[in-house]
Amino acid sequence: MARPKNVKYIFVTGGVISSLGKGILSASLGMLLKSRGLRVAIQKYDPYINVDPGTMSPYQHGEVYVTDDGAETDLDLGHYERFLDESTSQTSNLTMGRVYKSVIDKERSGDYLGATVQVVPHVIDEIKDRMAEQARNGNLDVLITEIGGTIGDIESLPFLEAMRELKLEMGDGNLVNIHLTFVPYIKSASELKTKPTQHSVKMLLGVGIQPDILVCRSEKLLSREIKNKVGHFCNLNEFDVIGLNDCETIYEVPLTLLQEKLDLRVLKKLGLKGFKEPSLDYWREFCNKVKFPKDGEVTIGICGKYTEYPDAYKSILESFIHAGASNNVKVTVKLLKAEDAESATFDLAKELQGINGILVAPGFGDRGIEGKIKYIEYARVQNIPFFGICLGMQCASIEFARNVCGMQEANSTEFNKRARFAVIDLMEHQKKVKEKGGSMRLGSYPCIITEGSKAYAAYQKFLVNERHRHRYEFNNDYRKNFEENGMIFSGTSPNGELVEIIELKDHRWFVAVQFHPELKSRVQKAHSLFHGFVAAAKEYARGAHQLDLTVDMPSFVPLYSDPAP
Ligand code: GLN
Repeated sequence: MARPKNVKYIFVTGGVISSLGKGILSASLGMLLKSRGLRVAIQKYDPYINVDPGTMSPYQHGEVYVTDDGAETDLDLGHYERFLDESTSQTSNLTMGRVYKSVIDKERSGDYLGATVQVVPHVIDEIKDRMAEQARNGNLDVLITEIGGTIGDIESLPFLEAMRELKLEMGDGNLVNIHLTFVPYIKSASELKTKPTQHSVKMLLGVGIQPDILVCRSEKLLSREIKNKVGHFCNLNEFDVIGLNDCETIYEVPLTLLQEKLDLRVLKKLGLKGFKEPSLDYWREFCNKVKFPKDGEVTIGICGKYTEYPDAYKSILESFIHAGASNNVKVTVKLLKAEDAESATFDLAKELQGINGILVAPGFGDRGIEGKIKYIEYARVQNIPFFGICLGMQCASIEFARNVCGMQEANSTEFNKRARFAVIDLMEHQKKVKEKGGSMRLGSYPCIITEGSKAYAAYQKFLVNERHRHRYEFNNDYRKNFEENGMIFSGTSPNGELVEIIELKDHRWFVAVQFHPELKSRVQKAHSLFHGFVAAAKEYARGAHQLDLTVDMPSFVPLYSDPAP
């Protein structure tokens, strides 16, 4: 497949250990180049065999990030969108599973007739074709590709070989490899140690790749001497050894990299001239608001079942940073494990002491559902700002049905197929779906907002587009009953058929949504609903609220105690 002539390529690989922040590095560099006036796209190549991460547990993979066009992707795409303020798409995340699937499909349909199908050249060519396709589609100057995993992993070798071949084919000045490594500080020796970086580069050299730039993550600032030493052992000029010490917030990483002149080194190596200095005043202002908010602090409780692993709620956590800055407050998050609240002796009031707002998170399966419902009941009865997202909205509907509408046996058919009052149920077309991968209601859908509602107050618009990832929906058979009891359906699909937002009339701020607003919050524009929720929590915190202890909490009786999956 022909490659567009003018697109330049940047590859970001990682060495020594995982979790060094290749995603943040890619997003930060993309943001710097974009603010210099270049047209940039970022994509992620993941070495695993899953066709996409949609079928993986959040414990394995963290959050699944959904694009407008309905791709279930790696959470790093969230960083790309938030830093670059550009939407990613189906082609922005390629897994080795998708590459192999495509090669095997082609083999079965006879495309390679006569050939022995092999990793070299067929799998490598498939990767290069995908790369060319992505470069052609984007109207781009620069395509940044982050390669998942750590150098030395067997499974990422085909991606590295594709990069090696591409560099050879394109010649000098068209492709740079940035290798992110770790330079540990050894306290007892009071020294930064460069050996792991040297080994990592040797491993890259072993597959035929000389990195063009090293970015060294470290606890302490890299001195010129250390940069010189690293450069000496890794065949690099000291100016191509970039120091990246730990920042207080990930949003400061682009500013550190700017100081270290990473963007200038990249432009020089790619022969790109005449691009203006980036003006990052708004970005600096944002970082200042994150670090030194003027209006104090609010504490938000996030209730979910993956609380030991915050990456499962990555975009929600980032959205709170954006909404904290837009409200000029520090948002402290406390993760609340849903199942804990299911024990009869659990003291909910104690757990929620000092909490100014409760968010019930998305999720799948019945583990922790009764605990979530208990938190929602508490927020509703005690008039505490509440925000439900996807499963959080479904649980809010179950809670309302049981405790306000008197339907004690209300549930979602996801948790009880024979629920007497199935207030949350499968959509008709979902009933026929057999395949698990990529078969949910996915991607962006329009939603009409009711004037005068809290949702309208937040959005200030009648029509919004939000991203979805779920199979179940609110069951319209119960709409009338809910409305008669004080529930407002403040957002629906344009034909009115699908409930997208519910809220309570007589409550400080009780809004729950079927979609995922966290996927669209950006640095420059905190999501309207997160902004509104944090504003309500701020007001609640300011009002020196007292919980109304005269309100009786009904005693909690779990209806279903299925074993946790
Ligand atoms: N499990 C629910 C469904 O599939 C909610 C999904 C979610 O929270 N993303 O409808």
